[in-house]
Amino acid sequence: MSTNTTAGPKKKILLVAANPATSPTTGWPVGFWWAELTHPYAAFTEAGFEVDIRSPEGGALRADGYSDPEDASGYSAHDFISLGFKRSPALAALLEATRSIEDVDVAHYDAVFVVGGQAPMVTFRGDTKLQALVARFFEAGKVTALVCHGTCLLLDARLSNGDLLVKGRTWTGFASSEEAFADGVVGRRIQPFWIEDEARKLEGTRFEVASAFAPFAIRDGLLVTGQQQNSGRVAAELVIEALEGVVAERPVTRGAGVRVARFVHPFFHANAWLLMNSTHAILIDTASNGSADGERLADWVAGFGRELQAVVLSHGHPDVFLGVDAVSRRFPRAKLLVASPAIVDDIIDMGKTIASAGMLSSPELGPDVLDYRALIGALPATGLVLEGSPSVSLRTWVTTAPSEFTRLTTIWIPELATLFASDLAYNHVHAWAGVGVDRKALEAWLGFIDGVVAAHPGAAIRVLTGHGPETDSNVLFAQRAYLRDLAALLDAGASGDALEAEMRRRYPGHSGVEFQLHMTGTNPAFVR
Ligand SMILES: [Zn+2]
Repeated sequence: MSTNTTAGPKKKILLVAANPATSPTTGWPVGFWWAELTHPYAAFTEAGFEVDIRSPEGGALRADGYSDPEDASGYSAHDFISLGFKRSPALAALLEATRSIEDVDVAHYDAVFVVGGQAPMVTFRGDTKLQALVARFFEAGKVTALVCHGTCLLLDARLSNGDLLVKGRTWTGFASSEEAFADGVVGRRIQPFWIEDEARKLEGTRFEVASAFAPFAIRDGLLVTGQQQNSGRVAAELVIEALEGVVAERPVTRGAGVRVARFVHPFFHANAWLLMNSTHAILIDTASNGSADGERLADWVAGFGRELQAVVLSHGHPDVFLGVDAVSRRFPRAKLLVASPAIVDDIIDMGKTIASAGMLSSPELGPDVLDYRALIGALPATGLVLEGSPSVSLRTWVTTAPSEFTRLTTIWIPELATLFASDLAYNHVHAWAGVGVDRKALEAWLGFIDGVVAAHPGAAIRVLTGHGPETDSNVLFAQRAYLRDLAALLDAGASGDALEAEMRRRYPGHSGVEFQLHMTGTNPAFVR
């Protein structure tokens, strides 16, 4: 199904692939790379865009042998998208007699996408016509994308004022580690130059790579670049986002280089989330009820072998912060952060409350003993960025009235289309509506969920909750239904055991019966 949502004429993308050539270093015939042409082509046409394929000189195109899914080497045998393209007479014909870029009318297109392969390394460096065309797209405010060895064009492409197109930009391209790997496989030097080595010689530009052969793309404003042959799809996704008007205030990355892991507290069903790339990690919350849990959490974090950059505490509930001392002792360089200084007050108040109630399992965690104010700092106003590559940004927002707790922090990670909802949403766990939550807080909570839903309209986003497994935006609607059910039962006069029994009946698959739901049933604010 095509899903070009805007009415009117379809947006058009110019796809440029290199003409066949002969490698000066190996003597091999070289061309374009199948997957870098077919995977973006599939993504663009699926999204409802029109695609024209052209080449600098025009004429029949030829692919690199290793990229051919039917090549005897079997190197690309998994690439059924290219196989389908190749075997479709109508699609294969698009590569038989391409038009040259000679008479391209930039105004006719919304984006240009330059395919890589081995031929660009031979034909693009001196091709001032192609360099000028790509610069014209960029200067005309069109999305300008290049992938893999096609990015070598950016080593030379200049704007009309003489500046390099990549001046002040963050971009990627074929990595030197990948060139070294390829040379090792073949047993000889393949390429006349390496893009990463050349890019690092340029001043005033930022070149980044992810792990070797991992799908990875960067969007910096209108400029989209993909690292290598496995990055055509993610680069195309960033192009589509740009064409659909998604705003990117700083360079965003897309790819397989960032992963999320979950640590669970067995009783509270509470989560700590670890966000990591190949070198660095950020921990969200501690899912602990004391220092022993914190030690277990620290062991778990250490097991990933990343440098723990920061721990973000989303709110002042005990299960969120009681592991922080153990983690900070183990990772002294990690910054302990909250999105608002008032959350440190919340933590101290809560610590005093549970200590005076005799419910603090580790005496060293009492606010009279542990200086939470010295330990925990405020997030910088600019937000938090995961160091290393690929980097992702954490955009925090703090609730403005008491709901599940006095203040809760949500974190939006745009590059991963991922929302940490904190305890605004519980996933298949009974929500905390115990001491501190009254009827008014339930209404505020519902309002905050509405706000989060409105901030991500119709989006298929990943949602990480404070309790329960990773899920998607449906959890927000499920939590809204749960809270409305609870509010309606309270309004109808239910309380105590009857309230607990009815919520159990309505949510038979939910955990947290023995703690969260029981505390709802015994919440003094709800007893009539
Ligand atoms: Zn909570």
